[in-house]
Amino acid sequence: MALRLREIKLHLEEDETLLPARIAESLGLDPAELHNLKLVRKGIDARRKSAILKVYTVEFEVADEVEVLKRQADNPHLSKVDPPAPFTPLVSTPGRKVIVVGMGPAGLFAALNLRRSGAEVLLVERGKPVAERLQDVQTFWSGGSLNPHSNIQFGEGGAGTFSDGKLTTRINHPLVTEVLQSLVDFGAPEEILWQAKPHIGSDRLRKVLVRMRKKLRDEGVEIRFSTCLTGIEQAGGRLAGAILNGDQFEACDSLVLAVGHSARDTYRMLQQSQIALESKSFAIGLRVEHPLELINQIQYGLPSHPQLGAAEYALAWQDKQAGRGVYSFCMCPGGVVVNASSEAGGVVVNGMSDFKRDAACSNSALVVTVGRADFSSADPLAGVAFQRHWEEQAFTAAGSTGSVPGQPLLGFLNGTSGDLKTSCQPAVVAADLSQVLPAAVSEALRRALPQFERRMRGFVGPEAMLLGVETRTSAPLRILREDHGCSVSLPGLFPAGEGAGYAGGIMSAAIDGIKTANHVTCHLNSF
Ligand SMILES: Cc1cc2nc3c(=O)[nH]c(=O)nc-3n(C[C@H](O)[C@H](O)[C@H](O)COP(=O)(O)OP(=O)(O)OC[C@H]3O[C@@H](n4cnc5c(N)ncnc54)[C@H](O)[C@@H]3O)c2cc1C
Repeated sequence: MALRLREIKLHLEEDETLLPARIAESLGLDPAELHNLKLVRKGIDARRKSAILKVYTVEFEVADEVEVLKRQADNPHLSKVDPPAPFTPLVSTPGRKVIVVGMGPAGLFAALNLRRSGAEVLLVERGKPVAERLQDVQTFWSGGSLNPHSNIQFGEGGAGTFSDGKLTTRINHPLVTEVLQSLVDFGAPEEILWQAKPHIGSDRLRKVLVRMRKKLRDEGVEIRFSTCLTGIEQAGGRLAGAILNGDQFEACDSLVLAVGHSARDTYRMLQQSQIALESKSFAIGLRVEHPLELINQIQYGLPSHPQLGAAEYALAWQDKQAGRGVYSFCMCPGGVVVNASSEAGGVVVNGMSDFKRDAACSNSALVVTVGRADFSSADPLAGVAFQRHWEEQAFTAAGSTGSVPGQPLLGFLNGTSGDLKTSCQPAVVAADLSQVLPAAVSEALRRALPQFERRMRGFVGPEAMLLGVETRTSAPLRILREDHGCSVSLPGLFPAGEGAGYAGGIMSAAIDGIKTANHVTCHLNSF
């Protein structure tokens, strides 16, 4: 049995070699009595800028844990470590075939676990392998044409491939460690296992994907790129198979639908196939960008420090007047703003960072909650139409060239334009950003910004730039499923991940993929 001690503090300048002494001192032990020390968590506490602290959780062994626990009974930071129950995927009835659609985190982890359960797995992805996808994205970012099947939203790794690769989640589940460990096994940096706010960065994530693809193939998963699910076949009231690329029928016993939040043609196909969908609320807004040193100064009281990474922030405010939440989302410290469009005639922005987070700026989305009352009809796809409308407004506002519309934050507040300074490639065009958002959203943002300035002095200033429009914050609809994971409309069909409306973010999508794999295996064993 091991012990775990939390809240172990070191000053910024203090070296981690002091940790054993700090632990021993707080427990009344000699450092020599501590064995097998393991770092399980490291975070930064910058609430007092004059005394920023590194805060650790460490597991270790001592000769007599029971005695130490008894002596330290009133120490709220000390506990014994119960090893997590190993997660063992279920075993599938041999010879069952599953098609997994989408190579985002949900599809990848579903395919891996279904294969390990013994099912025959075909994994299809409408986009391309990550290296070719990167070329298509770089072509688009350097002024070339947008590939509607290979872009920031579509391709190996899914939407998160060009991202900050933040692995934070509100889910408290043993699968979190399972997913993190798998990512490390595929080459992700070890520190994601103990960082308080783990992130991989786009550069490292691309390498992880290549190794994961090799592993999937080595385990016998068939992978087909540039293969789009365009229809589903039903027989006898249950799923019979998939239609791929318009005319190829592929029979299967089950299908995992992990298509992400931007597969609008697939949503349309599901609606036409009488699969139950419902629109759901999400958030829309603009991406704000500041110089990295300014955000560091605001958060740390220092423009930079060798012991401190690029500073993060999280802002939230409830706009009681409008009954909407306004919050920062998907923050990318030391990253860039990206043109994340996936459709001709529409412009969408998002953010991305590399592992080192060493770019000159930091950005995040500032978004406002919207829901059915904001959509033009009760159609389940009304949220999709709403997103598309404002993306088209953004396209038009930037001169209908595919460029991104931008405005200095102060200009957005007082209705003026100004010089634009941004990391976003290839081109940003000055525009009035209140033209790319519903009035209710612009007004809520204008009411929230002074609140955010109160919390982060300097946030609202001449160096802050806004770019639009941020619409893909989560799925605009839910593909309705039963508790056991199956679509309410079609036995054998398993909606999963963010696109199904049951996850948000890389980690929660991966976990939903694993849970769905288990639901599928139970289903396969039931007939
Ligand atoms: C730019 C950007 C930055 C982000 N940053 C972060 C971050 O830092 N941290 C975080 O947690 N989350 C981040 N996210 C969100 C995160 O990427 C998603 O929540 C997550 O990827 C959802 O996983 P998923 O597997 O459900 O779907 P996706 O990752 O969207 O994958 C779906 C896959 O299905 C494929 N597909 C779609 N339709 C079909 C079809 N008909 N046939 C075949 N294949 C199809 C798509 O091409 C895609 O590859 C970011 C998203 C973006 C766009």
